[in-house]
Amino acid sequence: MEQQEKIYDVIIIGSGPGGMTAALYASRANLSTLVLERGVPGGELLNTAEVENYPGFDSIMGPELADKMHKSSMRFGADQAYGDVKRIVVDGAYRIVEAGKKSYKAKAVIIATGSYHRKLNVPGEDQYNGRGVSYCAVCDGAFFRNKDLIVVGGGDSAVEEGTYLTQFGDVNIVHRRDSLRAQKILQDRAFKNEKVNFTWDTVVEEIQGDGNKVTGVAMKNVKTGEVVQQNIDGVFVYVGILPQSDAFRDLGITDAEGWIETNEYMETAVPGIFAVGDVRKKTLRQITTAVGDGGEAGNRAFHYIEEWNDRYAVEK
Ligand code: FAD
Ligand code: NAP
Repeated sequence: MEQQEKIYDVIIIGSGPGGMTAALYASRANLSTLVLERGVPGGELLNTAEVENYPGFDSIMGPELADKMHKSSMRFGADQAYGDVKRIVVDGAYRIVEAGKKSYKAKAVIIATGSYHRKLNVPGEDQYNGRGVSYCAVCDGAFFRNKDLIVVGGGDSAVEEGTYLTQFGDVNIVHRRDSLRAQKILQDRAFKNEKVNFTWDTVVEEIQGDGNKVTGVAMKNVKTGEVVQQNIDGVFVYVGILPQSDAFRDLGITDAEGWIETNEYMETAVPGIFAVGDVRKKTLRQITTAVGDGGEAGNRAFHYIEEWNDRYAVEK
């Protein structure tokens, strides 16, 4: 493992809305700050079509908001590096972040790794992933112009992204119950849209194809037990999210499902390790709440590092 020379005040893992805001607050408070990201800055914003519940913008496309957030959060001098973080090691007063063959040393770490999409776990899903099965309407929607689509799920993602997909064709939202979990405003909009149809009380049992691409699905009505086969070209899966926290489970900071537990200051049970955004155990996973968490953690890290410097007699 190649240990990097510079010791940072704070390392932020992940550059979605939570991580970017933490970087803004930490670097603006003059902390030496490193953001490690294993993909492109923006997190889930890059997979989001229209955002209309982030104050300051009546409506903005997710990727555009990601770009604006990234530019504004990096302007106080935070460093950035590519890194797929696999572990954090507590080394006395320091926290060592291991990413691939490199390791980075810091006084504090803010975990902002977000979540990933849950799979349906039905036959054909993996085989046809990227060949008719998609988890991202904004990335793949345009491939399905005038094609027959289904969207699976009944939460905000399924209903909002399903409605977005109607610009390419008719959309059938398949949900396992007879009422939606999505916010009322998203439901109302979908119900009013003539291009959105719903199939209630129904689960997808199999995604079928011709060996190269999706050609249909087998769906079962959970109330009647009836199984129907439907020819379709695309399946968009939006059945919930899971925490991106495997790398941190041995720290004892996650609950049974892997969500990271913090107090209101975003502090985990390990001093000097904070968590923000969707990866955190919380009730509302939104851009606004990720940003709020990031501000709190950046500010809290500043106070933690002041105390750290006093305790370990490091010159400021
Ligand atoms: P994320 O945005 O998930 O970012 C996490 C980042 O961490 C990613 O860039 C990832 O690559 C990186 N990362 C993960 N693991 C590692 C690792 N081990 N090493 C290095 N980097 C790592 N919310 C709204 O308020 N309005 C909306 O309209 C809206 N639409 C949505 C539409 C969809 C389809 C989805 C899925 C979500 C939507 N949300 C919306 C929710 C919102 O996107 C999230 O709440 C928000 O992005 C959470 O931010 P975050 O920073 O916690 O995590
Ligand atoms: P979610 O709210 O957990 O909804 C998941 C949906 O999938 C539920 O309707 C659930 O059914 C269904 N489901 C779960 N497992 C299934 C399975 N195996 N088979 C079939 N259906 C299954 O997830 P989400 O919609 O992806 O939202 C994730 C987070 O992002 C939420 O916090 C949400 O608020 C946020 N988000 C916000 C916006 C916005 O503000 N505009 C947009 C998108 C996402 P049940 O209802 O029966 O449980």
